[in-house]
Amino acid sequence: MSLSGRNGSARSVEWFVGGGGSSRGLHLAGFEALELVDKEPSVAATLGAAGFPASRIRIEDIARAAETSPSADLLWASPPCQPASRAGKRGGRGDSRSAFDAFLEALEILRRRGVLPPLLLVENVVGQNEHDADCKGSCPGCDWESLERVVAEFYPSTSTRALRSADYGVPQHRNRLFLCGSPRPFAWPTPSHSLESLASAKWVTGDYWTRHRNAPSSEGSMNQAEQRALTDGAKSPLLPWVTVRDALPDLVRSRSGRVVHERSESPLAGSEPWRLDLPSTVVAATDEKGTNYTKGMTTKRRTPMRASDTIYLATGIRRPTVDELAILQTFPSGAKFSGSVHQQYIQVGNAVPVVLAKALGLALREMIR
Ligand SMILES: [Zn+2]
Repeated sequence: MSLSGRNGSARSVEWFVGGGGSSRGLHLAGFEALELVDKEPSVAATLGAAGFPASRIRIEDIARAAETSPSADLLWASPPCQPASRAGKRGGRGDSRSAFDAFLEALEILRRRGVLPPLLLVENVVGQNEHDADCKGSCPGCDWESLERVVAEFYPSTSTRALRSADYGVPQHRNRLFLCGSPRPFAWPTPSHSLESLASAKWVTGDYWTRHRNAPSSEGSMNQAEQRALTDGAKSPLLPWVTVRDALPDLVRSRSGRVVHERSESPLAGSEPWRLDLPSTVVAATDEKGTNYTKGMTTKRRTPMRASDTIYLATGIRRPTVDELAILQTFPSGAKFSGSVHQQYIQVGNAVPVVLAKALGLALREMIR
């Protein structure tokens, strides 16, 4: 990946870049990254391996980075979303507030310096904009409202939208919340992929099974969502949702070399191979621990929550590799992640899917043409 200013007409500053999913996507959309900022030292080598010049990678607090940040067309920020989802465990209100407060302060620094980019995109988890049932004025929903208020003060047009990654070609159900600040109303990218087209490829034309000759199509059956999608009306002009089997065709074949719990140990292991023929459940940093289904569990007490659950139910493999999860996040095959194995799982699990960031990047570039 070369960042030598080939597409120098669109320049970005990116905060909380982590493993670089959004940075790669924005680069593919033609943005030249002037500065990539993150507090976590292990991401520097990951971003370097992706081709971003070391001189543009800053490992420090965004407040410090904001003091000298260059003028750009776009500020992309993915403020940490863990505090909200971790709130129960760590009583994390303090965490949640401080992450957002720090972000708002850094935006204010850019504005004061006169280098607030004309385009702002903030990414977060779906639900971040919802208030707790017992909201006392300091819950994640309150934080999000403060953010929207500040962005509305700084930008003529603001818009919040939840996007479904699978609708943009990600082999994974990963819904994310985005807030855009822009000089005029932002046209969100329209979906390129649909469930209806996947259902049609599987159950009407059979193209899907032709493509995967070895897939046991007879073991699968049309699920209710697919049935609904097919009876919902006109044929979708979009591409089919990308499935786990599309993304990881070797997953089943590679079983021999893996720690696999066979059905004798848990009847759930590998009991639902049809899950390979849909997008995965969400890739999470905690997939390092492997599936939530425990050995000996005989009944389904919960629905699959994470990618490791889907893969376990489909194949019996308890823990997907970093590389497999990176593919489900649409990183290119062979993408390198640095740091400890633990840090690598975190970098991949917290990333924005590359192709989703690319779709947003292309829509953002339309705004500065
Ligand atoms: Zn609230």
